[in-house]
Amino acid sequence: MNCKVGINGFGTIGKRIADAVALQDDMEVVGVSKTSPNYESKLALDRGYPLYCAVSERLPNFREKGMDVKGGLEELIEQSDIIVDCTPGGVGAKNSELYQEMDVKAIYQGGEDHEVAGFSFNSLVNYIDAYGRDETRVVSCNTTALCRTLYPIKREFGIDKVRATMIRRGGDPKQDERGPINAIKPKMKVPSHHGPDVMTVIPDLDIDTTAVKVPTTIMHFHSINVELSETDVKPNDIIEVLEETPRVTFVDEDIGVKSTAQIIELARDAGRPRNDVWEIPVWRDSVVIKDNELYYFQAVHQESDVVPENIDAIRAMMELEKDSTKSIEKTDKTLNLNQML
Ligand code: NAD
Repeated sequence: MNCKVGINGFGTIGKRIADAVALQDDMEVVGVSKTSPNYESKLALDRGYPLYCAVSERLPNFREKGMDVKGGLEELIEQSDIIVDCTPGGVGAKNSELYQEMDVKAIYQGGEDHEVAGFSFNSLVNYIDAYGRDETRVVSCNTTALCRTLYPIKREFGIDKVRATMIRRGGDPKQDERGPINAIKPKMKVPSHHGPDVMTVIPDLDIDTTAVKVPTTIMHFHSINVELSETDVKPNDIIEVLEETPRVTFVDEDIGVKSTAQIIELARDAGRPRNDVWEIPVWRDSVVIKDNELYYFQAVHQESDVVPENIDAIRAMMELEKDSTKSIEKTDKTLNLNQML
């Protein structure tokens, strides 16, 4: 019998996870919740996902708009073996009490603190530690991207220190009130929170990060500098290891992939749903080693890179698959993840 997945919050992340769950043969979407009867609620109904109202007193608003709503959040939880909480940051922590009271497993997103679940997940790093767990936090888009490339480099060559700058998008494409519109806005908290967040997944990694917001909506960008422990490592050694790493891909400047804009164009040309780029693209020519210090650039499609991780987290927590490699392969095959770049 398929595992029954409820998705609380059907926004940027929730709608992508719902579509990914629907593609799996070992799980199914039993419902999604919204707080208002907007265009995403309509999309849920069009996709055939049972719609629930996350805030019970707003239930009549859905019916006024002619939307068939099945009930409130408690009713969604009753239908579910596991809830994937995709509400805005901070709301998940408030919901956690209800999930515990109603004895349902829960996955939280990166907008919540590590403490919400006491465990932060990345498929490559700690899949097995999520096996059978009741609560897990899938880390943010930036943290997921940093873990995907730094973990295999650390495993193969050792890392003494990482310094990385996050060039962050101002908002997601649908967020018409975010910014900046015409400025570069540095985060004055130095180092930024991203480094400590990576350490919730890879505790023995020495990493400091800084962050800057820029007027773009399509992707984040990371400029990464790594002091390697092993000497005499060559750029090709790094490229070979990352080529073997799931959900990391290379892009090449010499065939015109010079910016995040062209990466999104590749996704559009490939017919990816919503232009999603689930893998982390690394610029091949940016992989340079100077005096044992590695440099590279990577891009992050903030709206989608955490989606495969959520599918693996469901599989581990529900004990559907013990082997991380098998889960990763299954998820990636259903998403056609290796078919694009
Ligand atoms: P979003 O605003 O696009 O979607 C949030 C959804 O939750 C909406 O459907 C909204 O109707 C619903 N919602 C609002 N208040 C609610 C409440 N009280 N109870 C239930 N539902 C409520 O947000 P998002 O970008 O999908 O972010 C969701 C989570 O994923 C956050 O923790 C965020 O930090 C994290 N995340 C976001 C991104 C990104 O770039 N968008 C990337 C990785 C992780």
